[in-house]
Amino acid sequence: MTLQTTGTERPAAVQRVTGVRQYEAWQLGELPPVEEVRPGLWSIPVPMPRNPLRYVLVYALALDDGLALIDVGWDAEESWRALVDGVRQTGHDITEVRYAAITHLHPDHFGLAPRLRAVSGAALAMHAADATLLGHHTPDDTERNEAGWARQLTRLGAPRTVIEADPVSLVRFGAGESVDIVLEDGARLDLPGWDLRAIWTPGHTAGHLCFADDSRGVLLSGDHMLPRISPNISTIPGELVDPLHRYLHSLHATAALPEHEVLPAHEYRFSGVAARARGLLEHHEERFAEILADVAAHPESTAWEVTERVTWSRPFDTMTPRLHRLAVRETDAHLLVLADRGAVRLLAGDPDRWIVDTPTESARP
Ligand SMILES: [Zn+2]
Ligand SMILES: [Zn+2]
Repeated sequence: MTLQTTGTERPAAVQRVTGVRQYEAWQLGELPPVEEVRPGLWSIPVPMPRNPLRYVLVYALALDDGLALIDVGWDAEESWRALVDGVRQTGHDITEVRYAAITHLHPDHFGLAPRLRAVSGAALAMHAADATLLGHHTPDDTERNEAGWARQLTRLGAPRTVIEADPVSLVRFGAGESVDIVLEDGARLDLPGWDLRAIWTPGHTAGHLCFADDSRGVLLSGDHMLPRISPNISTIPGELVDPLHRYLHSLHATAALPEHEVLPAHEYRFSGVAARARGLLEHHEERFAEILADVAAHPESTAWEVTERVTWSRPFDTMTPRLHRLAVRETDAHLLVLADRGAVRLLAGDPDRWIVDTPTESARP
């Protein structure tokens, strides 16, 4: 007997919380417990001091001769102690970690990697596009990098107070570290007993990876897909030219993945891969519509001026200069996709300005 396929789309699954204890802890403002999600697969919350995301979920996988980790947590003493203690609750010791795969090069995911390697000798695995940034740490790199940020923010029309308030460079952690294993899209992780494959999902960073284990029905989604918030997608000078375009592409690919339980790096576990991916795509479409309407109402605006007027999760004038930077770079990412779609046009200048793109006479049929 053969199974008939209908040729239509699979039924639309809804998004549902599966990490109930994590969800309850999230609501109460507490740290969730270490949980064994599948036999030999644990989630370990590692706190992020003074950060509204509160914790990163590190995943530990049992091996014949120790443990593998997916992400390792923020570099702080409190975080390290939580990681060591969480690993102990799996029946292992931190010195037994053999392998650490990092979803992406952000400090909450990579931060403890040097310390972990120093005590365990764990092999470090990442995607090449993020791994390459580990080399950018000389004083010259930092200077060049900060000049690049200042140029970008000036071009976007950000005021001097925002440009100069808080100079941050892209990756100031992990200096001198190098990666042992470069993971490409589709790569099988060399972890005996596991069926884990890397899925390249650029957008949040250039080298972001998710990991799927089809036999256990799990998708470890890093920051690519979280149950509640939409990850920050913003232009990064010298790195990601069109991050939102890539992110939307990654989301479309994610929507076609098997309907596994999602094990994210923050918040709580959930099911409904396609539903969440579609929800995030819709969120960005709403954002495009709002930004396009704003440019239509205020021609020749800078990205900064648009950013000041569109809605944010908190009042714009209560945000710190660092959040203002994130916000204006997010707006920039949306404007670039709108330009790519032919909806808006850039008037290059100092700063750049945006207008709604109307077809010229010659372009009309
Ligand atoms: Zn991140
Ligand atoms: Zn994160």
